[in-house]
Amino acid sequence: MTDTMTFHTTQPHMLKESKVYQSQTLMGGLSGFESPIGLDRHDRMAALRTGDIGFVHSWDINTSVDGPGTRMTVFMSGCPLRCQYCQNPDTWKMRDGQPVYLQAMIDKVARYQDLFKATGGGITFSGGESMMQAAFVSRVFRAAKEMGVHTCLDTSGFLNRNYTDDMIDDIDLCLLDVKSGDEETYKEVTGGTLAPTIAFGKRLAERGSKIWVRFVLVPGLTDSEENVEKVAEVCEQFKDAIEHIDVLPFHQLGRPKWHELRIPYPLEDAKGPSASLKKRVTEQLEAHGFVVY
Ligand code: SF4
Repeated sequence: MTDTMTFHTTQPHMLKESKVYQSQTLMGGLSGFESPIGLDRHDRMAALRTGDIGFVHSWDINTSVDGPGTRMTVFMSGCPLRCQYCQNPDTWKMRDGQPVYLQAMIDKVARYQDLFKATGGGITFSGGESMMQAAFVSRVFRAAKEMGVHTCLDTSGFLNRNYTDDMIDDIDLCLLDVKSGDEETYKEVTGGTLAPTIAFGKRLAERGSKIWVRFVLVPGLTDSEENVEKVAEVCEQFKDAIEHIDVLPFHQLGRPKWHELRIPYPLEDAKGPSASLKKRVTEQLEAHGFVVY
């Protein structure tokens, strides 16, 4: 059997054959995974569909940033949106990530499970858009739930349809980006449409997952009273699931990446919000009964 053939199956015992490569994953900046296993394009696509591999940009261990407690945050490659304020344009193309074995990722979660449990933390998938690789992410979540580890999905919800109800049942917490409440502004900010985000919020609420909403406040782009009011109206549609709303002030830390990648950056001269603007928006959302940070 060739290594290539290994990837036509989801049988775990066959994946274990490549353990030597798995051990390099997530230990050395995700290097050493690309070519040794001889995946051609067809094999990759097949393994991607089954979730036998995922394309990962990077990962880190952090505390109280991407969910409660100490977390392992995995940034998946690939995103269908093109947000003007994106801090990680280097995650947009899936092919720029490194293929990682499902079992390697699960082993990593297992290795940290005591830490997660001691701190109330767990695993968070972010991106990019982690929903682009729903099979991989949901299989890691399933394994995490079996270990008793908390799961968190950071997403715009744009690919809501990629997620089955069973997959949603393994999401303890969703960091849901409500990038705008107004349709036209949503399109302007992201290039996409708002409806899938609302649909996903409703589905999460129906199935008992918790939600932390994230709203990026960009002066002159997302800050109008009308737009913020519509953000509140969107959130009210899945209010029972929302624990709080994070108003995230726009900043320019992502600008060097746009320059490096030579992508025209639409917010080149944009500034972050003033304290008074942040206060106004916070109070506007609080007036709808939300806890706002
Ligand atoms: S959804 Fe996230 S990763 Fe994708 S473009 Fe928007 S900010 Fe960037």
